[in-house]
Amino acid sequence: MKLGLTHSELCSYVNGRLVQEASGNVDIVIYDTRKITTTRDGVFFAFIGHRDGHDFVQKAYDKGVRCFVVSKDVDLPEDTSVIYVENTLYAFQELAKEHRNRFTMPVIAITGSLGKTTIKEWLYYLLKDDFRVGRTPKSYNSQLGVAQSLLELNEHHEIALIEADISHPNEMDRLEEIISPTMGVFTGIGKNYEQNFPSKEQHLAEHLKLFAHTNFTFILTEYHSQFRRNKISTIETSVNEWKDFGIEQQNFSDNRSLCLKAAEFLGVESAKLKERIAHLPMLSGRQELFEGINGNLIINDTYNMDLDALEQALEYQFSSKERARKIVVLDLSHVEEARKSEILELVSKYGPERVFRVEDNVLPPELIEMKDTSILFKSSFHSNLKVLVQKFKNRKHETWVEFDLKAIRSNLRHLQSLLPKGTKTLVMVKASSYGTGDVKIPHFLQEHGADYLGVAYTDEGATLRENGIELPILVMNSEPNAFEDTILHRLEPSIHALSQLKAFVEAVEQHGLSNYPIHLEVETGMHRLGFEESDLTELLGCLGKTDAVQVVSVFSHLADADNPDEEYSLGQLETFARIKERMKGELPCSMMFHILNSEGALKFSKIAAHDMVRIGIGIFGYTSGGDQLLPSMKWKTTVSQLKNLTPGDTIGYGRTYTANKPMTIATLRVGYADGFKRSLSNGVGHVYIHGVQCPVVGNVCMDMTMVDVTNIACSVNDEVEIIGEHQTIQEFADFLNTIPYEVMTSINKRVARVYIRS
Ligand SMILES: *Cc1c(COP(=O)(O)O)cnc(C)c1O
Repeated sequence: MKLGLTHSELCSYVNGRLVQEASGNVDIVIYDTRKITTTRDGVFFAFIGHRDGHDFVQKAYDKGVRCFVVSKDVDLPEDTSVIYVENTLYAFQELAKEHRNRFTMPVIAITGSLGKTTIKEWLYYLLKDDFRVGRTPKSYNSQLGVAQSLLELNEHHEIALIEADISHPNEMDRLEEIISPTMGVFTGIGKNYEQNFPSKEQHLAEHLKLFAHTNFTFILTEYHSQFRRNKISTIETSVNEWKDFGIEQQNFSDNRSLCLKAAEFLGVESAKLKERIAHLPMLSGRQELFEGINGNLIINDTYNMDLDALEQALEYQFSSKERARKIVVLDLSHVEEARKSEILELVSKYGPERVFRVEDNVLPPELIEMKDTSILFKSSFHSNLKVLVQKFKNRKHETWVEFDLKAIRSNLRHLQSLLPKGTKTLVMVKASSYGTGDVKIPHFLQEHGADYLGVAYTDEGATLRENGIELPILVMNSEPNAFEDTILHRLEPSIHALSQLKAFVEAVEQHGLSNYPIHLEVETGMHRLGFEESDLTELLGCLGKTDAVQVVSVFSHLADADNPDEEYSLGQLETFARIKERMKGELPCSMMFHILNSEGALKFSKIAAHDMVRIGIGIFGYTSGGDQLLPSMKWKTTVSQLKNLTPGDTIGYGRTYTANKPMTIATLRVGYADGFKRSLSNGVGHVYIHGVQCPVVGNVCMDMTMVDVTNIACSVNDEVEIIGEHQTIQEFADFLNTIPYEVMTSINKRVARVYIRS
């Protein structure tokens, strides 16, 4: 936004009266003195909300503002312009309206009782690579927010997306007047809420006012008759229209349909839409997921009470297969009266087994007794519910590892973006997904576009199947005594020797099956598992004689991918390419070929991605060239006791550390049984408390560790960082002379895993 107005022009725009005039220009609008960063040519609007902006004019002046729009008498020095208006919000809207009218681009207004922000953000996502799109920031959709949004538009924009929300009758007329939309999107309306409106019909009618002068409005077919009656031209759609786009099986398919229809109309090619609709960003706020007491799964979303975010949280809870019983816990005490029924209606739409309302900090006793249930806790940020949620944490949560799902998704996307089009992604989730927990990450990957999963052993694959993972799963070490389970769980074995192949063929034949998918591992330089090049003739002969199995892929593994000297890897890639040519020539079926791991994908995806890559550590952000990727893991513990020592006191088993000065030590709730190895004893390892480095003193015990906190103000239960902002996993691995892989997979199961969705 750059308004480019003189003070007197501004005055006439807002129909004000200049009670005091100084010369000057106005480029930006200010209404919160705390947010003043640049005052160059700013105008301060004194709004009357829960605080009165007139109390802050002096502060704005001190920060350099010289133009003011007010509705009360103010006393300001002579070098300012003071514009008097009846109502400052109204004046602000007038300014927004004038600003909007400078542009001829399509302005698309979005309203309805649900899903506005989702639709606005998704439509933006579908359009942003083809157009320069201006849009409502966050959910600025109120009388004030709409004006703010319009003032953000500038001459570079080609399309504007503006959200509008109402909570009382007759609010929409004004919004329609200032937005003056050329097109609309109607998101739909809930069943029977809105206390501020006499009836559902009137609530709907109020929404429709926004579209009174649009050329047309995108709607779901079910609203056809209401729009007809109001003589609003529409472009209609429904989920059925988008069968080819695979959205029927997804959440929010109505929202997706509307976005597709609008984007298609605006000229985005169908192929691009197909691609983009599969990767829409989810918008909910921060959510924490963790295993709670009594086998419960806890979804802690106590950060805001925005309806869109609530809907996303519910979608997440109800579409997840983890835990059949689902309940919702709400604290509505900080929510406006009018919103409460809206929230309750939305929740009831999903049909939770129970809805608990927590008031005055009291948890209902039945809630505490819940077992094996998925529990969504939802409240605004100001509620105390976020503290009460802690009661549902296991005691083991005093030491925990946290995984940032957003970082993981972004790493997956980044790695995929390096691949030639059509290359598949197999994600290795062996060893409980590198120690991140049994099934959370596989579920997440299944949702976010992995094509294949890989595990080390059959049992790991079986666990995934038992927990609802449907993706094809490659098992790296497939042992004859596990072939039964392999077949039972539809797992795909990696075959690396003739004897193993023959045994597997036999097992498949016993089940009367044919064309069972298998993968062949070939040796190119790792010298671990795999057929030698010289075995290939015999192997091909064997495969030719049976139709029990079908080779789905042929792969090999890089031994030295993180070496900056690429010579060895390039040699392996060459050998693999040679084997590929030979296999393709001799086996009739079409097969995939793959050799790159995470490090390989970062380096060689242009030359050797073949049909698929197998990535593991990269999705967590820990590769040697890791600066393109985001770290996703934090390991935390807490302080259980503080002790003051006098010189001569010794610390812990074996008395390996003697205090030589008065010192304070903290005992931490983590020990070698958690994976905080004993070799970190006596200054080898460090942790961070309140951002300060604290060395380990004495020997690490099985369940506890002592650190020196002599110079730090800290207290019992304070959080301690083992890996995180101050200490990277690589630094921690260096203390142990090892690599991030070993650190991740050595953190014991008893350490809680917490996943952050944001
Ligand atoms: C673990 C593994 C991978 C993944 O390796 P990262 O270095 O974690 O990307 C790929 N292929 C095979 C055979 C593996 O065992």
